[in-house]
Amino acid sequence: MIVDYHMHLREAEDGLPRTYSADRVEEYVGQARQAGVDEIGFTEHVFHFRETRELWEIPFFLDFCTDALDDYVGAVEEAKSRGLPVKLGLEVDYFPGIEAQLGELLAPYPWDYLLGSVHFVDGFQVDGRPGLVDKLPAGEAWRRYFAWLRNAARSGLFDALSHPDLVKIFGVRASDEETHYLHVETADAIEAAGVCVEVSAAGLHKPVGELYPDRPFLEACHERGVPITLASDAHEPAHVGRDLDEAIGLARDVGYETVTVFDARKRRQEPLG
Ligand SMILES: [Zn+2]
Ligand SMILES: [Zn+2]
Repeated sequence: MIVDYHMHLREAEDGLPRTYSADRVEEYVGQARQAGVDEIGFTEHVFHFRETRELWEIPFFLDFCTDALDDYVGAVEEAKSRGLPVKLGLEVDYFPGIEAQLGELLAPYPWDYLLGSVHFVDGFQVDGRPGLVDKLPAGEAWRRYFAWLRNAARSGLFDALSHPDLVKIFGVRASDEETHYLHVETADAIEAAGVCVEVSAAGLHKPVGELYPDRPFLEACHERGVPITLASDAHEPAHVGRDLDEAIGLARDVGYETVTVFDARKRRQEPLG
């Protein structure tokens, strides 16, 4: 089984509200079939939805809170009712202090799974510049990023962690010794929290030019029995399944033989590939 469990249904980032549709979902499914992907999961950014506006302190997010959650959820559910192999997810930014509100807000919707992402740390953007790695020394940026990721794992809000070592996106790295320690400490926390990690091909198309996560981090997760999902992080139909063969190759290399499939926030393992 091959899944692609991270993609965005929204079109260009022009700030206008979207009409989400099952027909648009079908375009993603068409590309998935061509790419040999059996099932896809949509994971729109949580901050696109106006219902979440009161949660955010970051001005960056407030500009994006334009869409209606029901429109997004309705489009994916409609596609499901057409018999398409799609799952309903959401890519949710982790911030400390809003866990309870966020949990309450998301509870009424029929999610198959929720991804936890750390895109901001202490007010600094992780995946934009100037950002976290420009404002802080590399070691400090990495320490803080992974502390937030561990807290995201422990929050109980999420089923899987997106692009788990996103902090490397611009190729700025902590020392080898520090990185080793952060990988081990974070894999321990992920195991204890009982969440999955994503093996994502998105990093291949970022300045770092590598899969997320680093091989030693994925090895540490595998040693602890942490399950995986697979991700392209496509923002348009053409990118569904892109470079998943590389993600699967890494997963196999470190010993993974199964991939996680979610259904109504319950997970099971299926043979990988
Ligand atoms: Zn993300
Ligand atoms: Zn994403």
